[in-house]
Amino acid sequence: MENRRVRLRFAPSPTGGLHMGGVRTALFSYLYAKKHGGDFILRIEDTDQTRYVNGAEEYIIEALKWCGIEPNEGVGFGDGPYAPYRQSERKELGIYAKYAQQLIDAGHAYYAFDTSEELDAMRKRLEAAKVSAPQYNSVSRQNMRNSLTLSEDEVKKLMDAGTPYVIRLKVPRNEEIRFHDIIRGWVVVNSAQVDDKVLLKSDGMPTYHLAHIVDDIEMKISHAVRGEEWLPSAPSHVLIYRYLGLEDQMPLLAHLPLILKPDGNGKLSKRDKSGIPMFPLDWYDERTGEKYQGYRESGFFKEAFINMLGMLGWNPGTTQEIFSLDELVDAFSFERVNKSGAKFDPEKTKWFNQQYLRKKSDAELAELFTPILHEKGIHADPKFVESVCRLVKEKAHFVSEFWDGGSYFFIAPTSYDQEVIKKRWNPQVAEFIKALTDIYKNVSTFTAHETEAQFKSTAERMGIGPGQVMQMFRVCLSGVGGGPNLFEMIELLGREEVVRRLENALATIK
Ligand code: GLU
Repeated sequence: MENRRVRLRFAPSPTGGLHMGGVRTALFSYLYAKKHGGDFILRIEDTDQTRYVNGAEEYIIEALKWCGIEPNEGVGFGDGPYAPYRQSERKELGIYAKYAQQLIDAGHAYYAFDTSEELDAMRKRLEAAKVSAPQYNSVSRQNMRNSLTLSEDEVKKLMDAGTPYVIRLKVPRNEEIRFHDIIRGWVVVNSAQVDDKVLLKSDGMPTYHLAHIVDDIEMKISHAVRGEEWLPSAPSHVLIYRYLGLEDQMPLLAHLPLILKPDGNGKLSKRDKSGIPMFPLDWYDERTGEKYQGYRESGFFKEAFINMLGMLGWNPGTTQEIFSLDELVDAFSFERVNKSGAKFDPEKTKWFNQQYLRKKSDAELAELFTPILHEKGIHADPKFVESVCRLVKEKAHFVSEFWDGGSYFFIAPTSYDQEVIKKRWNPQVAEFIKALTDIYKNVSTFTAHETEAQFKSTAERMGIGPGQVMQMFRVCLSGVGGGPNLFEMIELLGREEVVRRLENALATIK
């Protein structure tokens, strides 16, 4: 175990769009693999054909690409030495049946012929007897039709007749199962709590329980990272490794904490209504007709998404909050992943985006804003667009807010904030604005500095406090009462435009 190469797999089932909990599992696996110079593998666990969803696999691949956490081996990312990486294709290798047979031969698994009606009847019997968790186990299996209760002859007859059967794990009645989880420490479970899990289904397909173990062994996986919901089945998995005589090849386990709703009450749902997406990319579920917003399409930067996810259940032990992907790789360890659930914080998620928005250069922001302008039919000088970005980015969380926050840079106002007019407009203010307009026509340099100085000295000369006119003046220029630094805005609009807007306002506002 000591000198194993670090190899982590992300092993989603293509049963729908990959939600952000899944992306976090992939991210933490990626971080650990990269930190230790190891491999990050994508394996598609598609053994449950009834839950297969078209497009899910492509979605998973595209999401990992967008996030920049690309596997170096696996479906969609180039075959490595352990191809194929899709379980439905791996079945053809005969490996799942081989391992199941090995368990049968060693007396640790058995054939079960029970029909679904018989299984239902069993459950009802156990419920009537007030058994708290009715399951197929070391006690109940004694009353069922399996190779432990039937004679060898009967089993053979059933098999020869082609009777459908499954292979189940034979779990001992009363044994302590101990295993270590890197995040949770030692976990001890009594085998009486563990059911006889189906390993191979009647269609010959392995279940998740068998398939992932066989593949983790065959693919030489060193660490299995997955969601907390898998913790209850880990004891069965430990037994399977033990019965295969491969306990020394069992990957180290890490069960990540749940992601909780913003109020901390229960698991975050993919239908959460906080207004923040639950999926990395837009996802359309063709079976239910439901549409889910993606972070990408909602205008989030992938850096912000990844940074936010990285902090969901992990912390660096310092006050640092902003981490690039590379910095996360450097700082990450499972020891600093919490056991308890991590609350999803919609406001914080927006805050992360704002931090990355502020880090972008004005040119980068202009590049993102330009298509939005084009949609509005505006084709402005690129340098001008850059300057607008510089001014409006301060208050925005998303580039998509730039238009609402700064459309007046491109289109002169035709209406003016009535609230402000009601409160602030009077003959003296009108006089002031008229006087200032005349001064602006003639100032030698039309800069933020100069126009501000003129604003102040004119107000002083006319005996008006700047606070009495400032907002109204802004409304005359932009139509709205709030915005970026007023005089930088004036400099950017330029003398001609400013004068035109002021004259227009004076003629319009009554
Ligand atoms: N196919 C499982 C899932 O989608 C993977 C669990 C694991 O990583 O072992 O959750």
